[in-house]
Order: sequence, then C-alpha cells, then structure tokens
Amino acid sequence: MASQKGIILLVEDEENLHEALKLNLELEGYEVVSAFTGAEALKAINNEYFDLVILDVMLPEIDGFAVTETVRVQNNDVPILILSAKNTGGDKITGLRKGADDYLTKPFNLEELLLRVEKMIDKNRRIQVKSTVGDTYAFGNCFIDFKAQEIKTVDGNPLQISKKENMLLKLLIENEGEVVTREKILQVVWGYNVYPTTRTIDNFILNFRKYFEKDSRSPRHFHSVRGVGYKFTK
Ligand code: CA
Repeated sequence: MASQKGIILLVEDEENLHEALKLNLELEGYEVVSAFTGAEALKAINNEYFDLVILDVMLPEIDGFAVTETVRVQNNDVPILILSAKNTGGDKITGLRKGADDYLTKPFNLEELLLRVEKMIDKNRRIQVKSTVGDTYAFGNCFIDFKAQEIKTVDGNPLQISKKENMLLKLLIENEGEVVTREKILQVVWGYNVYPTTRTIDNFILNFRKYFEKDSRSPRHFHSVRGVGYKFTK
C-alpha cells in the first residue's frame, strides 16, 4: 500500500536487527524497502526514489561509507542516516564528511531512531521547493517546448509528443524532486471520470525514458516509486 509518511531504504546485513527495524518503521506507517549489501543498496538507490536511506556502515563488499560517497558523487541528495557499531569521533566525522546527514551509534534507542527518521524526512520535504515551469524547459541535453508540444530527445532528434504526454511531463517537472502520486496524475492528466490502468501511466513513463534517458534501463530523470507514483529529477 502507498505510504504518505515516506518510503525508506533500509540497508542492514544483520537479519535480526533488519527485521526488527523494518517492523518498527512499518508500524510507524513507513514503507520499507530492504537491502542487505552495499551493492543492493546502490542498485535500489539508482532505480527508485526514497525519502530516506538508513545505512549500516559494516556491510559485505561495499561498506556504508563507500555507498554514501558513491551516492553523493552521483549528485543524489537523498537523506542518509548512518548506523554504526563503531563509537569513535573519527568514524562519525568520516560518515558525515562522505555526505551522510546524520549518524547513530549502535546500540541505539529505537525511539531516538524513529524521531530522527521523522525529522529527516520532514526537513527534506520542506526544502523541496515547488517551482513553476515556463513554456520551455531544458535538462541535460534535452529540451521541451510545452506550447508547441515538441521535444528534443537525448539523441538530439526533434519529436512531436501527444497532449497527454505533454501534460504528464509538465506535471512531473513542476514537481521536480517530489513524488507525484498516481492519483494526482490521473486527476490532472486524465480527469476524474476516466480511469486508465496503472499500465497506461507506466507506458507513458517508458516512453519518456526512451525520449530522454541515455540508458532507459537505469533512468536518471524519470523514476518509478514503487506503489506510490513517479518522480522527475533534473
Ligand atoms: Ca553490519
């Protein structure tokens, strides 16, 4: 079920702790996606939008610091809360320097974790300021002319798009960095009385990826948020 409270990527390889955290976060109303290794975490972060990443430091293969560094190098600003067993000042500084937003040392108080999670998600939502979009919009080497319903694709080709494609593009771009729910999309693009299937919206997003993504299988601009909706990032 879609969660308005937020979607969290939980990266923790200790299964008991993972399950306990997942359960408690879900009880608070969050949607939780699980990863058990650094590689899994990076894959998930590249493919989906998250409101927050809870990231253990000691992970198989790629540790939490390396994951954080990679995410930031990719210009992804997703809030990261580091969990670590190491209780040294140096370790904390390493985590924050690599780009983590907050840090908790194991063993931690569950209440404190939940409070920090809530605060981080709230803060992130507040700074995602909504902007209005003009008649044209450029990102990467792509270009959209909303008035003419014309785009320049990632390959530099001009292309005429449909009215609904135009409307959906504008809706996503106006909410850059925020998840637009399926309900909102249906309401704005299709109107109240028409009920296209989820697959219909998916097909639009697949087309956008063909038009605008260098690699449509690992999208950088048009993201699906499991069970919730879609998100555009510049
Ligand atoms: Ca661990």
